[in-house]
Amino acid sequence: MTLNCQEVLDEIHREIQPLIGRGTIPDYIPPLAKVSGKKFGMALQTTDGQSCEIGDAAERFSIQSISKLFSLTLAFRLVGTSLWKRVGREPSGTPFNSLVQLEYERGIPRNPFINAGALVITDIILEHVDDPQKTYLSFLQQITGIPSVKISKTVYQAEIKSGHRNRALANLLKDFGNLRHNVEDVLSFYFFQCAVMMNCTELAMASLFLANNGEAPVAGEVVSQRHAKRINAVMLTCGTYDAAGDFAYRVGLPGKSGVGGGIVAVVPGRMSLCVWSPALNSAGNSYAGTKALELFTTKTRLSVF
Ligand code: GLU
Repeated sequence: MTLNCQEVLDEIHREIQPLIGRGTIPDYIPPLAKVSGKKFGMALQTTDGQSCEIGDAAERFSIQSISKLFSLTLAFRLVGTSLWKRVGREPSGTPFNSLVQLEYERGIPRNPFINAGALVITDIILEHVDDPQKTYLSFLQQITGIPSVKISKTVYQAEIKSGHRNRALANLLKDFGNLRHNVEDVLSFYFFQCAVMMNCTELAMASLFLANNGEAPVAGEVVSQRHAKRINAVMLTCGTYDAAGDFAYRVGLPGKSGVGGGIVAVVPGRMSLCVWSPALNSAGNSYAGTKALELFTTKTRLSVF
């Protein structure tokens, strides 16, 4: 099917207007609360080189947990499937920052997309690279082809200051022997990842390898085809907090969201998308963003189901 992607996005942009701003802007990371709830942007990149965008697609925002997608990818590149010895790949059924399950399950996080899992993935990356912050940023710069990708120091500092729950998770992991590095070093690199600023167009480009059998148009092979398939599977089952079932039901695509209001989604073989609108639904996913992706798959009939 040929798709006039700009026409579809323009239509979504018109229809989504009444829903923009619905939901809540998170304030537990103070700089996130300063972003206007009226923002809305969406971008897509196809595997055959088309790109389209609408609204605030060119405005950078805090990628937050979308970073967990790139951290998992980096860890896969570094250690392959052996990472599953230290983290599971099942939906958690509990909030992304919950401590209870980690205690019950003796320090093995359910999946790499909840905070505890991302802390273990962070620890794995720390083991294999000399300058993790530089490695992380240059990885994002390579797969987007955009050298100006960087972090917000304000968000980074705010997370260091307010990250008590993440600190508790890291201490619990350390106590169970599932962190090799010092708690503060792991937290500092984890907060760095969350503090990366990117826009919808950059994020759609950064995740295009997942729609393209592991190959990024600008950087070549990012991961093998098998690993890309596996990352997409974990995104589908665990990528949108405790609402991955509802997201699969409504949208029908692998997706990864963040509390900054961004959601990345992948149509395997076809395209990657990113939508951003900061007000979140009760599960912590962008309210208007989820609706926009639902409209997209309904209009185009592009979904994995
Ligand atoms: N930096 C946030 C935290 O650790 C990320 C949360 C998210 O986007 O899910 O709480």
